Amino acid sequence: MNNSETVAKRTHNEDLKEGNRLLSGNITDTLADPGAECFSHDDYEFLKFHGVYQQDDRDLRKTGKKYIMMVRVRMPGGTIQPNQYLVLDRLAETHANNTLRITSRQGLQFHGIIKSRLRETIREINEALLTTLAACGDVARNVMAPVTPALSPVVERVQEEARRVSQSLLPATPAYHEIWVEGQALKLEEARQRDFVDPLYGRQYLPRKFKVAFAVPPHNDVDVFTQCVGFIAVIEKDQLLGYNLVVGGGMGRSHGNQETFPRLADEVGFLPPDQVEKVARGVMQVFREYGDRTNRKHARLKYVLEERGVDWFRTELEKQTGLPLAPVRPYRFEQQGDRFGWHRQLDGRWFLGLHIEGGRIKDTPARKYKTALRLIAEQFRLEYRMTPSNNLLMVGVTDGQKDALTRLLAEQGIPVELAQQASAVRRNSMACVSMPTCGLGLAEAERYLPDLITQLDEALAKLGLGQEDIVIRMTGCPNGCARPYVSEVAFVGRAPGRYQLYLGGNLAGTRLNRLYKDSVKDVEILAELQPLFARFAAERQAGERFGDWCHRVILPSA
Ligand code: SF4
Repeated sequence: MNNSETVAKRTHNEDLKEGNRLLSGNITDTLADPGAECFSHDDYEFLKFHGVYQQDDRDLRKTGKKYIMMVRVRMPGGTIQPNQYLVLDRLAETHANNTLRITSRQGLQFHGIIKSRLRETIREINEALLTTLAACGDVARNVMAPVTPALSPVVERVQEEARRVSQSLLPATPAYHEIWVEGQALKLEEARQRDFVDPLYGRQYLPRKFKVAFAVPPHNDVDVFTQCVGFIAVIEKDQLLGYNLVVGGGMGRSHGNQETFPRLADEVGFLPPDQVEKVARGVMQVFREYGDRTNRKHARLKYVLEERGVDWFRTELEKQTGLPLAPVRPYRFEQQGDRFGWHRQLDGRWFLGLHIEGGRIKDTPARKYKTALRLIAEQFRLEYRMTPSNNLLMVGVTDGQKDALTRLLAEQGIPVELAQQASAVRRNSMACVSMPTCGLGLAEAERYLPDLITQLDEALAKLGLGQEDIVIRMTGCPNGCARPYVSEVAFVGRAPGRYQLYLGGNLAGTRLNRLYKDSVKDVEILAELQPLFARFAAERQAGERFGDWCHRVILPSA
């Protein structure tokens, strides 16, 4: 295909990005216009690069469209300091719907911000030394990293690395700061606006989103094979030797489009720690050059790997970076998921893992998570870490703080013991946001999964399976934000009240599950799963997990 054909066929998004490389659109004018209740369609696309999704409350559509904004905070490795958390907590109350949502990439997002509050919200986030820049859009998204301090001395170093890589992959447009922090019309003179080219992203940014994560085996809490780029730490005697690079994973697919599919990343090679930034940028350059700019559903790095192969990719990457990769070193993942309750850190202090249902930090009559997290940030000044499974760790708790902190949580109705926090299945479940704010949602997810888990819990308990920690995920559409295709059981929204049912992922998150039923009504899910649970209870091999049993017995041809 020659260049003129490529230009002729590229998507409207490509024209937008190249036509306004500052990514400023008309955002400033619309913000200043009190009569404009929403942004234009083109600005909707630009806003994503600023960490903003224009949405509407789908519950209210019958009475007229009510525009609201989702604002996502970029937090590499999910880490946030107490003073920063307190700013977000306050903004959630004053400017949003009084909740904070932990994202599946370890960020925090606000829902329900009206346009007139948008600039103030983002300015205050920046004043707290956080950013929303590149939390969405055709750029490198929030960089994920393991959170658990008890795991390995390498975790803290990898957290540090995630922050560095995140910083090095940020777009350079000055428009973000000028629009949101300074709050003025763009000050860049016209010639500079016209000539601006991002030094890393070039004239058109990336074909689509780009996801980077670090993992520290044997724990695969970030689902590293679902990422565009994964750095898997190789450790010997507690020393970080380097990283195995895996490339080309991704979850998103579209119903009825066989050209789209979930894919696990391929192993590419091994690199020493000091080459991480260069290699991350190099992978991005290959994507920038070879990703499909003519079809956004096909515009992910995973399709480049699928179609051109890992050997081709390795050669291209080495050309980009000038760094030859060594062969992959041995590693082994054993599990994903989070640790709940109190655990000792390697430095002798404690961390507490808290299950947050649906990742939604809010107060309910029974459990006041939002109040508790605010009080703890105020009184104990603890660092919080958002986990890849939408839960939260409090880290660095001293012996002297531990009991007082447990008491404070109890006063807000929140238990710390593993079993009291949530059932085994609930602790291992994850749902995307979907209704009522995600415009792509076809079925309920966050609002429905808790009730479904209650039903599943009862069914499992009757079969003596109450302690089985089956990994269950639900998304409102096939885009796969909650990484459903690597879970043991997945429900993927097909239409209102209908889901595809996938079975057979494994505990380590290293195997894709498979489609079991293409369309199951929400009210029929229990009846669909009950016989499988009963057979599993009767037929399983010693220690066999539900996902492995499904893979072996129910969907054996994989
Ligand atoms: Fe929205 Fe689909 Fe992502 Fe769920 S998986 S948050 S419905 S885009």
